[in-house]
Amino acid sequence: MSRKYPAEPFRIKSIEYVKMNTREEREALMKEAGYNTFLLNSKDVYIDLLTDSGTNAMSDRQWAGIMMGDEAYAGSVNWHHLEATVKELFGFKYVVPTHQGRGAENLLSTMAIKPGQFVPGNMYFTTTRYHQEANGGIFKDIVIDEAHDSTIDLPFKGNVDLRKLQSIIDEHGADKIAYICVAVTVNLAGGQPVSMQNLRETYALCQQHGIKVFMDATRCIENAFFIKEREKGYENKTIKEIVLEEFSYSDGCTMSGKKDCLTNIGGFLCLNDEELFTQAKELVVVFEGMPSYGGMTGRDMEAMALGLKEAIEYEYIEHRIKQVRYLGDRLVEAGVPIVLPVGGHGVFLDARLFCPHIPQEQFPAQALAAQIYIESGVRSMERGIVSGGRDKVTGKDHAPKLETVRLTIPRRVYTYAHMDVVADAVIDLYKNRDKIKGLKWVYEPKQLRFFTGRFEQI
Ligand SMILES: *Cc1c(COP(=O)(O)O)cnc(C)c1O
Repeated sequence: MSRKYPAEPFRIKSIEYVKMNTREEREALMKEAGYNTFLLNSKDVYIDLLTDSGTNAMSDRQWAGIMMGDEAYAGSVNWHHLEATVKELFGFKYVVPTHQGRGAENLLSTMAIKPGQFVPGNMYFTTTRYHQEANGGIFKDIVIDEAHDSTIDLPFKGNVDLRKLQSIIDEHGADKIAYICVAVTVNLAGGQPVSMQNLRETYALCQQHGIKVFMDATRCIENAFFIKEREKGYENKTIKEIVLEEFSYSDGCTMSGKKDCLTNIGGFLCLNDEELFTQAKELVVVFEGMPSYGGMTGRDMEAMALGLKEAIEYEYIEHRIKQVRYLGDRLVEAGVPIVLPVGGHGVFLDARLFCPHIPQEQFPAQALAAQIYIESGVRSMERGIVSGGRDKVTGKDHAPKLETVRLTIPRRVYTYAHMDVVADAVIDLYKNRDKIKGLKWVYEPKQLRFFTGRFEQI
């Protein structure tokens, strides 16, 4: 029997207490943190939906794996386990370990981008674009237009727009393109998936022109679930088969172990090209560590190998996606504006519609995230103009169309009852949204300003 919202496919063996403080305390704490939820202390947060990155709960098997860590400087047993697991599940020839996903992005961008080349991608991601630009690359958005509109409900809203890609090729020539970066799923569009057909067609077009495709594989298992659920011909395939097929339409990938690997740290780069692999092994030593640990401990690598095998199981991923959907469904029923459809890793509030009285220059999403914390102790994150940053050349704000607050659900950490607390708090605030005030900068960092920037209320 299948339930609309399946119960947790696990039982709880170890717990961590959380504390609720008072509204007065939270008001003072938020002011002290410069209205930036990144600057709050974890102990002051009741339900932490800041991110799904590195916040995963590990299984008893993974914890047992931690005890099996082989901390040898070179040739760790756990590295061989991780390498074999990634090769089996992703199907690439070579794997290079890194401390996080951005470590892999650094290696790839350094090797594969010549200054002045374009790097088209299905919407930008903060660290990904940073490394591309730091290596002289120019990011070009080739996601379908609908991805920038929160109200359009499409099954595969993360798809690459092949006409946009074709016109970049026509206008500049394939030589001017370093590679294409395809993210599965698209984080900043709301965790929106890419269809298998689109992956296949994107790869075919790139192959015609001799352009390489690298995937941002961070949420490749969540993407696979959507393909199984929504794409014709995949209903009866296993998640494992779908993941393998996803990667068959690429030349490699960068992976953040902190998301779909069900661990708290780690990452890796996958490649099929031997020459690039040789180069990556030389670079990884400088930035991360030996090619047999890349900034991870033996125990981390063991937990990651085991986590990947658990994440690719249907029962796990079905519950994961549907728990997120449960929160989204509750908000939609109450008329709260969210990005539709609900994606894989969180629910994104549309801050423009939520706070129509705050212009984008006064950071409506940043203000909304701060107010949600004050009202309820729930921590979320801005994904709008603050995260967008400034254009390297003009110095102007990127001003994305999507101005969102992300309620990101950590994997295997919270229950449906926690989702109800969050939904009730957001619905209540929506009814009293007039009281949310716009913000202005007090301190604006030059890079990735959303992490440490500070604001005050207008
Ligand atoms: C988290 C993330 C990254 C970067 O990974 P880290 O492990 O945080 O360095 C890259 N791309 C996407 C889409 C991500 O969500």
